[in-house]
Amino acid sequence: MDTAGKVIKCKAAVAWEPNKPLVIEDIEVAPPQANEVRIKIVATGVCHTDLYHLFEGMHKDGFPAVLGHEGAGIVESVGPGVSEFQPGDRVIPLFISQCRECRFCKSPKTNQCEKGWAADHYDVMALADSRFTCKGKKVLQFMGTSTFSEYTVMNQIAVAKIDPAAPLDKVCLLGCGVCTGFGAAVNTAKVEPGSTCAVFGLGAVGLAAVMGCKFAGAKRIFAVDTNPEKAEKARVFGATDFVNPKDYNKPISKVLAEMTNGGVDYSLECVGNVDVMRSALESCMKGWGVSVVVGWTDKHDFSARPIQLIAGRTWKGTLFGGFKSKDGVPQMVKAYMERKVKLDEFITHNMTLTQVNEAIELMKRGGCIRTVLSVSRQ
Ligand code: NAD
Ligand code: ZN
Repeated sequence: MDTAGKVIKCKAAVAWEPNKPLVIEDIEVAPPQANEVRIKIVATGVCHTDLYHLFEGMHKDGFPAVLGHEGAGIVESVGPGVSEFQPGDRVIPLFISQCRECRFCKSPKTNQCEKGWAADHYDVMALADSRFTCKGKKVLQFMGTSTFSEYTVMNQIAVAKIDPAAPLDKVCLLGCGVCTGFGAAVNTAKVEPGSTCAVFGLGAVGLAAVMGCKFAGAKRIFAVDTNPEKAEKARVFGATDFVNPKDYNKPISKVLAEMTNGGVDYSLECVGNVDVMRSALESCMKGWGVSVVVGWTDKHDFSARPIQLIAGRTWKGTLFGGFKSKDGVPQMVKAYMERKVKLDEFITHNMTLTQVNEAIELMKRGGCIRTVLSVSRQ
């Protein structure tokens, strides 16, 4: 059936309000407007940032929304002015755009783009505009992507065309978690060969950071998590040591300093907790240590003693691992196809979109690395 130009009615998991289970609803997805593409989502990962919006951020203007931002799919139709995509193209929706024209896109120093939702909507985590309605109400597109839906509409500046041979139920993880963690190590920290690293938090983002440290040639990689069950997985991605802060009655930064003769060269916080961010900074070597904030929170201020920075440490943050999204994602897909980066090992559970609440509960309990939901048949 040709659906181009028509409203599509399909299933989506709607977050009607914060802190409540998602509801599988029939939603209407409008046809793509100028410069937009409508995408049939085939698979999506569940990332902690979805949980953040639902349970932690809980910004009342950010609902109702369709969550999900780690998906992959197939272009169904394109709007006027789209020449880069055609129906049938395999794509990954991007929560950070790359328009190639704004002052940020033109600078090699950053991957921030002025045109996406992220430009000024960190609180509601969506653009004001949306192509979704349900029961007569506008439903927001979380992070501009909304991959917990059979169909979504995106501006072409936030879509990456990928190798058609790539398995969508694996490469969907490159839409967020894996690029974020890997890039945080490789692009943002710029980990050097022979260095010592510590990664705090071993979800998919942290494990991808471990993989990035290894890829960059780190000699020793400390994987830090309060959940001892994460130790084994961390070694799969290249960790040389596992440290559980709960096993010690002194600050983890002191423990790491003792194990490394003063501190690590690079630390990456992949939890989203301001106290852990401080610990990660304090775990770095004075003089040259670099600490990267990867975990997501906009709820709390963080603090540290200025002497930490005066003594030569650098504190940085990263969005999407510093990758310019449209350029970086196809390159990471290629790296996966050439077996230079792992993806399959992140996936601990496979479910369907209708089981999304189960997947969310599983992540809340720390019972998974990534659950991939199959959304529609290819
Ligand atoms: P996750 O929930 O799967 O993993 C978090 C891990 O942190 C768990 O293994 C948990 O046991 C561990 N942890 C909790 N408290 C800890 C502590 N005090 N010390 C050490 N470890 C602790 O989450 P995820 O999907 O891997 O995401 C991780 C973070 O990255 C989240 O905050 C998410 O919002 C954020 N994120 C940021 C970006 C970005 O662009 N900066 C993108 C995606 C995700
Ligand atoms: Zn994410």
